[in-house]
Amino acid sequence: MLVRFRRPNGSLGWGFRSEKGIADLSLADPALPTSTRTLIEQWDTLGPDVLRLAQTTPASSEPLEILCPLDVPGKILCIGLNYRDHAIETNAPIPDEPIVFFKSSNTMIGPTDSIVVPPISNEVDFEAELVVVIGKQLKHASESQAALAIFGYTAGNDVSARDWQKGKPGKQWYLGKSFDTFAPIGPAIALRSEIANPSNLRIESRLNGVSMQNSTTAELIFQPAMLLSYLSQIITLEPGDVLFTGTPAGVGVARTPQVFLKPGDRIEVEIESIGTLSNPCI
Ligand code: ZN
Repeated sequence: MLVRFRRPNGSLGWGFRSEKGIADLSLADPALPTSTRTLIEQWDTLGPDVLRLAQTTPASSEPLEILCPLDVPGKILCIGLNYRDHAIETNAPIPDEPIVFFKSSNTMIGPTDSIVVPPISNEVDFEAELVVVIGKQLKHASESQAALAIFGYTAGNDVSARDWQKGKPGKQWYLGKSFDTFAPIGPAIALRSEIANPSNLRIESRLNGVSMQNSTTAELIFQPAMLLSYLSQIITLEPGDVLFTGTPAGVGVARTPQVFLKPGDRIEVEIESIGTLSNPCI
């Protein structure tokens, strides 16, 4: 799994995490790109060597601070109402075509960074999501082409100010989804080859240690390859772009009583075989 980190001396690097620990590959071979976004773009040529290097490089003995796995955010595409259990809890019909929206690039933060609860919202909610990281340019792609263009998977929290998502003219979602810090991702990108079945992963969110969402990606209505193929008919997708694939039941706005994030909270998102986001709210 690909991780990006800060070393104790303040320098930045990336490497691969295994059960042995983290191999600092950008230190092991300084000729490799320093940017994980560039690494993903060049994965076809660099990938085999990087995977070999990961096998032979011992785990770093330094304490590494894990950062957002992408150093430069690309497009952040999102799918709404893509879990059967979530559509049912919000009394929405099961969509027969994907509901698509964007988050802006100012939202992307790392797995332990702070989520800033804006003073102009009283309804900041959490959404645990499986996030697809795109590895190749896609335009007018078939589902099979799209499946092969998936670089890997990470965990994400599609933080959403409900009062700005639903209470504004035209029912626009963009503003409520795009406050600064509203897209934590990480802690690692599991390569496509490391995830045997992306449609059978446990996905959970916990607020201050209490489970809020606890589901499985088996509840997904539209699968990642279908979504990428669909989107690529309209938008050229680029390496390093990400797709938030939707959230399962249990979000704060759908609970009785409703639950929203406030400063001092800690919200966690855990996805099986990928890892856990743990973001304090300030
Ligand atoms: Zn979402």
